[in-house]
Amino acid sequence: MYEQNVNNINFDVEQLETASGQSLYYIAWSIFRQHGFFEQFNIPEPIFLRWLKKVQHGYRGTNPYHNAVHASDVTHSMHFFVTRARIWSVLTPEEKLASIIAPIIHDYMHPGVNNAFLITTRDALTMRYNDLSVLENFHCASVLEFTQEEQYNLFVNMTVDQRKLVREMVISMVLATDMAAHFEWIGKFKNKMSGSGFNFENKADRKIMLNMAIKCADVNNPTKPLEQSKRWTELIMEEFFRQGDIERSRGIPISMFMNRETTDIPKCQIGFIDFIAQPLFDAWYSFMQEDIQILMDNIKGNKNYWKNKSEKVSFGPIKPTPSSTESLSNTAKASALAIPPGSNIQTSVSTQQITNTKSSDSLAR
Ligand SMILES: [Zn+2]
Repeated sequence: MYEQNVNNINFDVEQLETASGQSLYYIAWSIFRQHGFFEQFNIPEPIFLRWLKKVQHGYRGTNPYHNAVHASDVTHSMHFFVTRARIWSVLTPEEKLASIIAPIIHDYMHPGVNNAFLITTRDALTMRYNDLSVLENFHCASVLEFTQEEQYNLFVNMTVDQRKLVREMVISMVLATDMAAHFEWIGKFKNKMSGSGFNFENKADRKIMLNMAIKCADVNNPTKPLEQSKRWTELIMEEFFRQGDIERSRGIPISMFMNRETTDIPKCQIGFIDFIAQPLFDAWYSFMQEDIQILMDNIKGNKNYWKNKSEKVSFGPIKPTPSSTESLSNTAKASALAIPPGSNIQTSVSTQQITNTKSSDSLAR
């Protein structure tokens, strides 16, 4: 089933999950076979499959969103991006391998709550990683640690240099998925595009490109066809609301967009598209061009859907005003977007402004 869809960016990985119960396993295995990674790096297939099962089982099935199906989806999208000729032709074999390993493992053992929550509750992981990209460090280090064990060692027959290169790139990509550095990465990418341009002879430039690719694969929900996009939205919002429920029960401030009683989902989605997804994909489009035209069209369609929904909602009964904690003029990107409070991120428009603009639009009709 997957082999025929490997190059279809609109492929619905949830269908494969429903049919197989282990979409990550099939997608990753299929991609490894397709590119001949087993032969090229002399990876013993039984070791790889054991490793892959362990990674898949490490994802929590009880998380509505951050589970193995999300990893499948990100792996599928990432594979689509990196195998476009403009990228694939400039990557080294080690980078090709790393670009597939990174999305497979990028949310391994995700606890279903974000970095900000772990920091607020002084979780043991924040002590281990000094509050810095706590989850991303955890996902990556955990997998790389067990990969050293003989039974899971994919790298067993690689040279020291090959291992070092793969490891360096995998770590860089997984850490790049920390939303706290979202705008930093967009900035770096845009500087390259508008400045002297990318020099793909240069490893640092290839790294920026791959980090941008995995970021786009990771926040691809608004680039999906509407029905898929709505489904992913439902799942991420439910995971946020569960975090909000825990925060409520512990008597700590409920994070923005995580209060199931007051969060306006259409407005949250519009904010997410305007301030997170659109700038990211606009920058990516400046490089990928027609390769991702379909994704740009989908974002537009999805935004219109949420806009219409938001306008309809505004004619309904008056909703309770969000609590003071939620109405702080945090930026939309700091929203569900899992950015720790206090992250040094600037945007020109606050979520509150979006809300205000939206409300005045509605009133004018
Ligand atoms: Zn992810």
